[in-house]
Amino acid sequence: TEAPQSHAFQAEVARLLHLMVHSVYSNKDIFLRELISNAADACERLRHAALTDPSLLGEDTEFGILLEADEAGRRLVVSDNGSGMSRQELIDNLGTIARSGTKAFMDRLGEGKDGTALIGQFGVGFYSAFMVAEKVDVISRAAGSSEAWQWSSDGLGAFTVEPAGDDADVPARGTRVILHLKDDAASYARPATIERIVRAYSAHVPVPITLVVLPAEDGEESEPRRLADGTALWTRSKSEIGEEEYREFYGHVSGQFDEPAMTVHYRAEGRHEYSVLLFVPSMKPFDLFDPDRKGRVKLYVRRVFIADDVDLLPAWLRFVRGVIDSSDLPLNLSREMLQHNPVLDAIRKGVTNRLLGDLQKLSESDAAAYEKVWETFGPVLKEGIYEDFERKEKLLGLARFRSSSDSGQSWRSLHDYVADMKENQTQIYYATGASLEAIAASPHLEGFRARGVEVLHLSDPVDAFWVQMVEGFEGKPFRSITQGAAELDAIPVSETESDADKKAEAGDTDIGLVTAFLKETLGERVSDVRSSSRLAESPVCLVAPEHGPDRQFEKLMSRQGD
Ligand code: ADP
Ligand code: MG
Repeated sequence: TEAPQSHAFQAEVARLLHLMVHSVYSNKDIFLRELISNAADACERLRHAALTDPSLLGEDTEFGILLEADEAGRRLVVSDNGSGMSRQELIDNLGTIARSGTKAFMDRLGEGKDGTALIGQFGVGFYSAFMVAEKVDVISRAAGSSEAWQWSSDGLGAFTVEPAGDDADVPARGTRVILHLKDDAASYARPATIERIVRAYSAHVPVPITLVVLPAEDGEESEPRRLADGTALWTRSKSEIGEEEYREFYGHVSGQFDEPAMTVHYRAEGRHEYSVLLFVPSMKPFDLFDPDRKGRVKLYVRRVFIADDVDLLPAWLRFVRGVIDSSDLPLNLSREMLQHNPVLDAIRKGVTNRLLGDLQKLSESDAAAYEKVWETFGPVLKEGIYEDFERKEKLLGLARFRSSSDSGQSWRSLHDYVADMKENQTQIYYATGASLEAIAASPHLEGFRARGVEVLHLSDPVDAFWVQMVEGFEGKPFRSITQGAAELDAIPVSETESDADKKAEAGDTDIGLVTAFLKETLGERVSDVRSSSRLAESPVCLVAPEHGPDRQFEKLMSRQGD
């Protein structure tokens, strides 16, 4: 046999492992959820591959995850009869991190914050084993292979890979992850602890989980115990599922640790039949603004996992997590078939409309809960306003804004805005800027403030785009306050502000002289100099022409050109 070969971890992994061991975790239990979720993924991957090559399964057609509690040996073993890993896969998958955004993630961990919530969603699940183990052995045999390999590491910078021989620890197919627990983590070998964690985090993974308790030296053999039956939660009826179960399943599919802010569970019947169990998280996923804008909803066909990288929802709903299970699609879908598929198109359309409808309902039944969703994901949903022509109106109706009313404390809808418009006001005014503070300090606002005319404060980068594309809302056009605002003259200044107005009137006679002087001095550099009622305190400001681009938009475009 070959001697064990030593490999260094990729630098990111080494750093991650260091943080994993030295950071504070309020909840180490989650390592088990991560290992179980990997085991379940491996089973689902093989179940899928076996559709085209049944010989991969051989006699062993029942998938399962086995947990072994070995208190005497201070070991916990997680094994599965899933896809397994070849030698090269062990080296690649358990030595590097492929996910984007890894650096940002580690910077957050490095700040000394509680890292628990960050781990699961980051594709660093496996490495969390080193929170509780001083050494980890992974023995794996890829489905259909005659070779088995053992990966071992103490998490301190290197790992070894060697042929696994053929003792009892070597699986006939799949993977055994053996955790040699640290002194202070010995309780993870206790059956009661394991059972509690599985119930809390993994009760609804779609592969059954069984617990085997190894006898103490003089103890008695006990019966294996079924901890989870592996039935798919989404196929059960809504009335028999508790909130607790939804939350646990959400944790499993999303890898996050927050509570779902909204749960959408239904079965579509008719021309296309499919089940939907989707969640809107309450916390931003880490890669929300990654350039690839990928969603991660899992596609199943009749309970068989197919893929989690198919665009089942538009990019502006990429924060939604969960499962869509189709009854109509063939199981052996090729990549190409997934790209352009009329059934998937119909599902995408149906589910998107349902999600928007449910968001609308939530906004009516529980405004505070809805505003939290908007606060977290509004900047993403707003991308839909210019990308999804069909649903633009719906999204504008769902949009919420900070505005000059109520000192920017409350969220305002466009309905609110239009309902509260001043007499003679015909347009929806907005101000764009890099931050709400910057907008609130703009002199352009003064004349509007003096008249009590509400101005929407748009501070998300996406705002400068959609606001250029839409004609208006309920027949009222959008208008930037940096563009001409001729109609302001027709709106009376509020009582309390009339002093400022009188001052302005008193100065009228000299204004002509001043503007003439400025026009001559500035020459070609400006297209016009005008007196205006938009200011109440500041002497002058720059405005964009009535029909030209908004100033903030111009700035954005010139920055992109760099
Ligand atoms: P993620 O699950 O998000 O990909 P992990 O760190 O949990 O990240 O696992 C890294 C990779 O290691 C997985 O993507 C998978 O390829 C491989 N892996 C981990 N555990 C198993 C297992 N039990 N069976 C097969 N492959 C596994
Ligand atoms: Mg994982």
